[in-house]
Amino acid sequence: VAKEEGPGLVRSFEPVMLYARQLRREMASELRSAVERDELRLVYQPVVDLVTGHMQGVEVLVRWQHPAQGLVMPDMFIPLAEESGAILQIGRWVLRKALEQLAEWRRHAEHREDFHVRVNVSAAELQAMDLVDYVRSVLRDTGASPQELVLEITESAFVGSGDVETYSMRSLKALGVRLEIDDFGTGYSSISYLRRLPVHTVKVDRTLIADICGDEGQLKFVDAVHQLIRAAGMEAVFEGIETQQQAGKLREMGCCSGQGYYFSRPINEKQVGTLLASGSRLPLATELVA
Ligand code: C2E
Ligand code: MG
Ligand code: MG
Ligand code: MG
Repeated sequence: VAKEEGPGLVRSFEPVMLYARQLRREMASELRSAVERDELRLVYQPVVDLVTGHMQGVEVLVRWQHPAQGLVMPDMFIPLAEESGAILQIGRWVLRKALEQLAEWRRHAEHREDFHVRVNVSAAELQAMDLVDYVRSVLRDTGASPQELVLEITESAFVGSGDVETYSMRSLKALGVRLEIDDFGTGYSSISYLRRLPVHTVKVDRTLIADICGDEGQLKFVDAVHQLIRAAGMEAVFEGIETQQQAGKLREMGCCSGQGYYFSRPINEKQVGTLLASGSRLPLATELVA
């Protein structure tokens, strides 16, 4: 067992650790049936036009309503699901549910062609040969058009990305689905992939912008990252915008899209519906533009 922990780590038999490990193991096995037992929930975080405060779309984020543990966040169970392979089933459920929800919003709010949903896709899903067929069938079943869907693929998925991934991405692009690199700036991949991959947008990780208001050097760095993305022919989206000052700095830089607690925390489907029906301005938008 000690080997599992890697070299240099002192093995500890503290009850807390044993308990944590057992909990993880139990959760991993429960995850397999979480979809069938209908325990997964979706929340939605608005992605906003930084100049107008207008909601351009939403990012779909999954939660697990565990019968005993309560609400479990994805950072806790997505890695487990990736290890066990349950992510394939979860990912399918999320995609279908998200596009069904989009159809539901359409029925109740003004029709907005440009409104889109962004769905996170794990590396394992990208490697599954049937991803493209599945996306195509869900689009057909829900009546969504491909342009309304953005698939967010985390940067670390491109580390050593091979033929299957590239093939999947090209097929998805051919289908008309937009692709995005998520968490840009956190992986260890070379940036040359920016020009190689059929990607439309790049989402800059929140750790990069955390200190742009306190650190002039970091601000310059983020500006350069933005230029780099634009030079590669892509659009940038900034995540983790928590303050009006951060939003202002990014706007001055000419950045167009972003999301973060400053604009809105992840919200439920009813709240998105209300926003859509009321013109999609986020509560803080007027303050931002002023
Ligand atoms: P992500 O794709 O980078 O999603 C953004 C995360 O940042 C979300 O956490 C969101 O709630 C959080 N966030 C948004 N605005 C702010 C902010 O202003 N400040 C801070 N500190 N955080 C902010 P969440 O919902 O816990 O999701 C964590 C990660 O789990 C996601 O990161 C994504 O990688 C993964 N994930 C979530 N849903 C899915 C899914 O359906 N499939 C897959 N494969 N992964 C998912
Ligand atoms: Mg994401
Ligand atoms: Mg991510
Ligand atoms: Mg991210």
